Amino acid sequence: MNLTHLTALELGRAIASGDVTIPQATKAALEEISQRDKSLNSYITVLEEQAMERAEALQKGLKPGLSPLYGVPLLLKDNLCTQGIKTTCGSKLLEGYVPPYDATVVEKVQTAGGVCLGKGNLDEFAMGSTTETSYFGPTRNPWDESRVPGGSSGGCAAGVAAGFAWYALGSDTGGSIRQPAGYCGLTGLKPTYGTVSRHGLVAYASSLDQVGPLCRDAADCAAVLDLIQGKDRRDSTTVDGNYGGRLASLTADIRGLRVGLPVECFGEGLDPCVAQRVQEVAKVLQHRGAVLTEVSIPELKQVIGAYYVLASAEASSNLARYDGVKYGFRAEKYKNLTQMYENTRSQGFGKEAKLRILLGTFVLSAGYYEAYYKKALAVKEQVSQGLERAFATCDVLLTPVTPNTAPKLGESLADPMKMYLSDLYTVPANLAGLPSLSMPCGVDGQGMPVGAQLMGPRFGEPMLLNTAYAYQQETDHHKRVPRGGEGR
Ligand code: GLN
Repeated sequence: MNLTHLTALELGRAIASGDVTIPQATKAALEEISQRDKSLNSYITVLEEQAMERAEALQKGLKPGLSPLYGVPLLLKDNLCTQGIKTTCGSKLLEGYVPPYDATVVEKVQTAGGVCLGKGNLDEFAMGSTTETSYFGPTRNPWDESRVPGGSSGGCAAGVAAGFAWYALGSDTGGSIRQPAGYCGLTGLKPTYGTVSRHGLVAYASSLDQVGPLCRDAADCAAVLDLIQGKDRRDSTTVDGNYGGRLASLTADIRGLRVGLPVECFGEGLDPCVAQRVQEVAKVLQHRGAVLTEVSIPELKQVIGAYYVLASAEASSNLARYDGVKYGFRAEKYKNLTQMYENTRSQGFGKEAKLRILLGTFVLSAGYYEAYYKKALAVKEQVSQGLERAFATCDVLLTPVTPNTAPKLGESLADPMKMYLSDLYTVPANLAGLPSLSMPCGVDGQGMPVGAQLMGPRFGEPMLLNTAYAYQQETDHHKRVPRGGEGR
């Protein structure tokens, strides 16, 4: 048995029982990283010494009754602020930026005994679907290094899939947890908007951003969600709710669950092999007692345009703060203040970030606000209503995560329209603020992982996690590991 291929909960149990020590586990991951991450490039920062010191300290504090993830090493997307540890957002503009505080989710996993191994690579400011727009170079997919791991949390997904960490925290604005999880054979969850604090998550599009876990299975996702969810007085959009133990509530009983398959998600543009794998998921759920229904949500056809208008609009406003005064990079040469701003932003931002800032500024400008931004807001509302209507007749929706499996490096940036369109199935959950999970459901003809997506109504996390958990009792796609590994 390979230690680095255990699930986070399995490792947690092995630590609690004394079969494995925390320094042993930490060292095993650090060794894998040093041997194999040169080509994958999943980490921007590796915290070798800090992680080992922390592991030793946690080992001394080991006692009964701690968190099930006590001592389990993890990876953080590099747009989550970490006190005293640089947080780059994959951008030259934040190269060398060291936050003076920890994001709330970082604080929470630390309090539960997490060992942070480092910071994961991402598309610049989380804008992208491939992790190729990172200033620190692209990340590669551990299943096939000529392919992308997805994005924007591509470093986190590749890192967990490759055995460089037992779980990761990423962020999802339009699919950035679910899509890379899908491309790398992981289970990833975007929680309901307001369930997890965004305090200390560097903002991309604040009304859509949400932090969540990338894990090896649904039970791990539930355990991580238990650590990070809940009201935070430092994020006024978090909701004071009844956050029960998600892990404890997993039963694998889905008898009578109404699973809806939206016809709009199985049409044009979908790779037949992906469609087939997802249909097979439906059959497995049915076999476990779920009831399948076909639903129609015509509003879903409008989501991509609306998403890119809204996300870019918010990004243009959020990224206005990077002017060389307070954070990170400042251009060396300038004659006056205006030129300092101009040179800093021209030299600091990459192409994709600039594109989004320009588009966002345009759609918010006085002349075009009504024509684009307000229309996109109206579509957002319609999508929410369409989904609400669907959830009146079914409990969860089942769709593919993406129309295709992971593309080759370079392919997507050469055809950005195709890349944007591939967010088709993931963005509705962000526009409507709903929870959504992605889980592996087999491989395509090239051996690349295929992802199935489950979407639920607000605060439907327990149902999503339980559905995925039931599916994973019946199948072992989540146990496959890349590089011809023998599986867990
Ligand atoms: N691919 C989408 C985008 O580029 C989603 C990114 C994300 O969820 N952060 O906006």
